[in-house]
Amino acid sequence: MVNKMMFVLLKQLVKKPATNPFPVKHAPANVTALIEKVQKGEVQINPPVPVPEGFRGKLVYDPERCIGCRLCIMVCPADAMEWIPELKKIRHYVSRCMFCALCVDVCPGKKFPGEEKAVKALRMSEEFLIADYDKYSDNLIEEPPEAKELFKKEVKEAAESEG
Ligand code: SF4
Ligand code: SF4
Repeated sequence: MVNKMMFVLLKQLVKKPATNPFPVKHAPANVTALIEKVQKGEVQINPPVPVPEGFRGKLVYDPERCIGCRLCIMVCPADAMEWIPELKKIRHYVSRCMFCALCVDVCPGKKFPGEEKAVKALRMSEEFLIADYDKYSDNLIEEPPEAKELFKKEVKEAAESEG
């Protein structure tokens, strides 16, 4: 005999699933092959659930707007910011960040001629797909482009001094 609960369960069986099949409906047997198919346009990726307004995703740093006040370093509870003394700018380690946005709140930013008000050098983006194999990959470090050259120079000098 079909009781009320069984009836509800049977009704659910014929309903459309409420899940969001991201990135594709079934887990791919071969991720590399899936990526190739997506690049060729043979497979469509289902987008993730949209983020709400004010979402705190990956932090983005604009060194052009940074006045080197170091307030973000002082306020960061996760020690995710590093001062680059040679450039008087900052380096941000996304892998250490806990997305609290305190640094964004405190950043005064810079006003360029012709602008009405200063624009912050830090902002939270909507990006959240930031998994990586290396916590020091370019994807997970925000810094001025010159900082990379400076780092390479320091590594080279250290290697030379070690002989
Ligand atoms: S969002 Fe929070 S944890 Fe991340 S760098 Fe800014 S202050 Fe630090
Ligand atoms: S990012 Fe903003 S708070 Fe941090 S040093 Fe630059 S201007 Fe100051």
